[in-house]
Amino acid sequence: MAEDTEVVVVCGGYADVMAADRPARHDDVTVTPINPRRAFVHRVCPHRTVGGTGAAVVDHQEVLARGMRLMADSVTRIDEMIEA
Ligand SMILES: Cc1cc2nc3c(=O)[nH]c(=O)nc-3n(C[C@H](O)[C@H](O)[C@H](O)COP(=O)(O)OP(=O)(O)OC[C@H]3O[C@@H](n4cnc5c(N)ncnc54)[C@H](O)[C@@H]3O)c2cc1C
Repeated sequence: MAEDTEVVVVCGGYADVMAADRPARHDDVTVTPINPRRAFVHRVCPHRTVGGTGAAVVDHQEVLARGMRLMADSVTRIDEMIEA
């Protein structure tokens, strides 16, 4: 049986969440996004907060595909790149 693949996505902004989503669709891939905060700010939606029509800040887990778990931390260094 082939080993599962573990993918770490550094940062949790819009681009990073999209990048994490694609490999996470595979059953044999585990994706772990790392972001300093558990809050996800919808940067295109601050008007919602101002207008009182909704929240621009949501729990980061809400924007991640099912099965992904956020690691709340800051990346300070990457020691080694391992090529598949
Ligand atoms: C107020 C505002 C309104 C905007 N409105 C629009 C709009 O209407 N339309 C539009 O197209 N664009 C808009 N933008 C731009 C859009 O938000 C950005 O283009 C987009 O967020 C870029 O996505 P990103 O994932 O590259 O970066 P970001 O969304 O900036 O995400 C970067 C992430 O990296 C994380 N990070 C940083 N350092 C580390 C570290 N050391 N370790 C781990 N994680 C780290 C941060 O916490 C953050 O979550 C707006 C931006 C702002 C600020």
